[in-house]
Amino acid sequence: MKVTDHINLAKKSLFSFEILPPLRGHDIKDIFYTLDPLMEFKPPFIDVTYHREEFIYVEKDNGLLQRRTIFKRPGTVGICAAIMNKYGIDAVPHLICGGFNRQMTENALIDLNFLGIDNVLILRGDPIQSEKSFFSKKNGHKYAVELVEQVQNLNKGKYIDKILEKKNSDFFDFCIGIAGYPEKHFEAPNMESDLFFLKKKVDAGANYIVTQMFFDNKKYFSFVKKCRSEGISIPIIPGIKPISSKKQLNSLPSRFYLNIPNELVKEVEQAKNKKIVFKIGIEWAIQQSKELRDSGVEVIHYYTMDKPENIYEIVKAIY
Ligand code: FAD
Repeated sequence: MKVTDHINLAKKSLFSFEILPPLRGHDIKDIFYTLDPLMEFKPPFIDVTYHREEFIYVEKDNGLLQRRTIFKRPGTVGICAAIMNKYGIDAVPHLICGGFNRQMTENALIDLNFLGIDNVLILRGDPIQSEKSFFSKKNGHKYAVELVEQVQNLNKGKYIDKILEKKNSDFFDFCIGIAGYPEKHFEAPNMESDLFFLKKKVDAGANYIVTQMFFDNKKYFSFVKKCRSEGISIPIIPGIKPISSKKQLNSLPSRFYLNIPNELVKEVEQAKNKKIVFKIGIEWAIQQSKELRDSGVEVIHYYTMDKPENIYEIVKAIY
């Protein structure tokens, strides 16, 4: 079922969460370990992230360096199929521009359709570690909006190869999610510019937005207000991540370009041990979630980052 149908049929605020495929060499049981405890709360859908290739350099016997391509977290599509099979819950694979050309994207979408997957979260992807800015693959997409257009084309029966075009086709019918940034995407020169391009994705056919994580609800409310005044009327699902270690006070802002309110920073800094930090993170996320739920948001989306315990506590307190 489509995310938007879940939203339209819901009588109360829903919740969803995002999981990462396990590191190569690890077992799918790691995923079930994350998900099993959360099934008690019957989430309507679960997102599975996509992780593109990375390059490593290996020294050869002659001293020269050889570049090798590795995928550290493969298995997004397989995990989606496993989730739907084991729990009967909709899985939402993330699909990115990076590392894909149009043909590969079309093939991936055909696979998803054959598996009965109704939703995709469309993203550009970040630059790979060895590159300073994002480069698309030859004949690939430079921005997420182009990928949204490709999915919408397939929804209309338009394949890359025009000979295959199906008239009045209802073969594909993907519901399309996209990313939004309450604190602005790090490359955008300003919020106005970022909103302008967000609107382009919506106009291209996106059905809902999931936000980057934020720790101050005011940022989300202000973002929603600006989106609405730009004519963006689709659901804007807030993304919440509980702080779980002192290290994250620096790692989350540097990785995701966001701010952490001083009140939370002080509380975490003063915590005497890890357990207390974990508890502070849960309490903060519960307060955020309560306010969001009471404001009428359709869904709250939790970033698990492989840690189900804190998400369990938050969801138990809210749903
Ligand atoms: P875009 O919408 O393409 O925007 C990228 C930048 O370009 C923005 O600054 C925008 O303002 C600007 N822009 C857009 N269109 C144009 C244009 N036509 N001309 C000029 N500028 C333009 N990454 C992964 O690799 N895998 C994942 O699974 C993943 N999941 C995510 C889930 C969520 C909810 C979020 C918020 C992010 C996720 N990301 C993931 C990270 C995401 O790929 C990065 O944030 C990436 O840098 C931007 O992706 P986007 O889809 O927002 O890009």
